[in-house]
Amino acid sequence: MDAKSAQKICGQPGRARKLPFLLKQLCCPNCGAAETLNRHSKLYGNDPADRRGQGRLQRGQRVWCSDRGERGGCGCSFSIFVAEVLPRHTVSGPWLWRVLQELLGGGSTKAACEGLQAPFPLETIYHLVTRLRERLSQIRSRLSCRCQPPASAQSDPLLQTVEHLRASFPKGLCSTADYQLHFQMPLLE
Ligand SMILES: [Zn+2]
Repeated sequence: MDAKSAQKICGQPGRARKLPFLLKQLCCPNCGAAETLNRHSKLYGNDPADRRGQGRLQRGQRVWCSDRGERGGCGCSFSIFVAEVLPRHTVSGPWLWRVLQELLGGGSTKAACEGLQAPFPLETIYHLVTRLRERLSQIRSRLSCRCQPPASAQSDPLLQTVEHLRASFPKGLCSTADYQLHFQMPLLE
């Protein structure tokens, strides 16, 4: 894994807005060193729930693997993303998941966005769903390690995958976030 693509996923921020991970318990995803990690800058993005567009949401944390001192890290930095964030995308995982649920119910992407009053342009959602379609085989093979695909009446591979996601993480509220947290990789890699 090169330093550019190295990243980790953590759970949602707690009440104190602190991200729930301890650097001491993590290894560098680039060089594997332990106890070399330091918090760097926080990653922020627009809060899609704030319709005035002024809200800022912490998307994650940059972390630096220190190459100073005796422990000898690699000097690279990487990102730890919150599970509900889709790295490199403005739409959050829960929003994508809501749209996918609507599609599973038989609606169109356009109808889903209008019905949900999504705070994103329709083209953005189209783009995201297209990206997701391009990655279905990787997603499904990962999911198959966790749970066999459920019997499905759907003929669209996208919708079959949505069902597979839901079956793989039945207790969660958002299967896209659960997927990222469980596999420690972005859904739309
Ligand atoms: Zn390192």
